[in-house]
Amino acid sequence: MRNILLLLEHKQNRNLLSQLLQQVGYEVIYPSPDDDLSNLHNSFDLCILGPVALDKFSDWVKATKKAEEPVFLPFLFITSRSDVKMITRGLWKTIDELITNPIEKVELQVRIEALLQRRELSLKLKDANEHLHNLNELKSRFISVASHEFRNPLHVILAYAQILYRGGEKLNSEKKKEFFTRIKSSAKKMNDTLDDVLILTKGELTLQKLNLQFLNLQEFCRLLVAEIKVGSAANQEINFTIQGQSKKAYFDENLLRHILTNLLTNAIKYSPLGTKVDFDLIIQDTKIIFEIKDAGIGIPLKDQSSLFESFRRASNVGKIPGTGLGLAIVKQSVDLHGGTIEVDSEVGIGTTFTVILPLIKGVDENS
Ligand code: ATP
Ligand code: MG
Repeated sequence: MRNILLLLEHKQNRNLLSQLLQQVGYEVIYPSPDDDLSNLHNSFDLCILGPVALDKFSDWVKATKKAEEPVFLPFLFITSRSDVKMITRGLWKTIDELITNPIEKVELQVRIEALLQRRELSLKLKDANEHLHNLNELKSRFISVASHEFRNPLHVILAYAQILYRGGEKLNSEKKKEFFTRIKSSAKKMNDTLDDVLILTKGELTLQKLNLQFLNLQEFCRLLVAEIKVGSAANQEINFTIQGQSKKAYFDENLLRHILTNLLTNAIKYSPLGTKVDFDLIIQDTKIIFEIKDAGIGIPLKDQSSLFESFRRASNVGKIPGTGLGLAIVKQSVDLHGGTIEVDSEVGIGTTFTVILPLIKGVDENS
């Protein structure tokens, strides 16, 4: 926040002023006379200029100020007393402050500080505005998801509760049990969704420290795949393969579970019955690669970059239910683990998610 661009015609003045400014802690930039000023955009917080420069670059000054809006980019004009008289009112549209020669060091510093403070304030305001805007968008997405995702299970709960209340005596115990189970699973669904919302909004994942455990990856993944298969209504095929030497390594089990469960359930959910999901675990010396590949509906290119934000869903999901929270949780978990995630997808062909996590090796118990 303290870069000052000097556009002064006299070399001597420029050197003097530059020294003075550096003494009080500012960074000083001064281009040589035939430098292209357009390259300097974004590299300074305040520009000090003299009459010749103002005359020569007044269009550039206006354009540069405009380009930074709503952030305030100050221009301070240095002139001799005699010049001041010639200054027309219009000048105030271009410059923000004026100081006359001979320059009083303290006065100059006070003016510079006042201008820089105004700039800083406008920067903060812009940030605050953006933050509010993002929150507002998040809120709208949350409301739209909540109304979708809660309405269905709520209807189910209300309907079965009503049936049980009205005609409970006439129902045999088998039927009653079935209805209670439906109520329970709908309530569980809402509860799971709320859990996801809380994980993300309370920043539980971002604040959490890694809880590393010495895991047998192969075993862990095998069990997880089995669990997911049982949990998926269609009992869809997951083709699990392992490449590389099996190793025990340090992982946060909870995070790993978040990552793989979400990616695998997505792969199943977004592909038609009868297609296969490939899950490849590739163990290398310094990293672990998880590749989850499906032959499902794919993700339109324009949606791919925003999928890792909360409540974001692609435009082609149709009636497939979901909250758009899973991948946000996956992304935070991958980040916490110091890894990366990438998506490669084509609509109608399928999707591959690739997660790479650094390998934190312990004593290899297999050797
Ligand atoms: P949930 O919170 O229940 O997981 P969701 O599955 O909609 O809901 P995410 O897991 O965050 O949410 O995924 C975000 C979006 O990314 C999905 O809504 C879908 O549009 C798209 N998507 C994710 N994985 C796949 C996939 N394997 N194939 C096609 N689209 C996918
Ligand atoms: Mg999901």
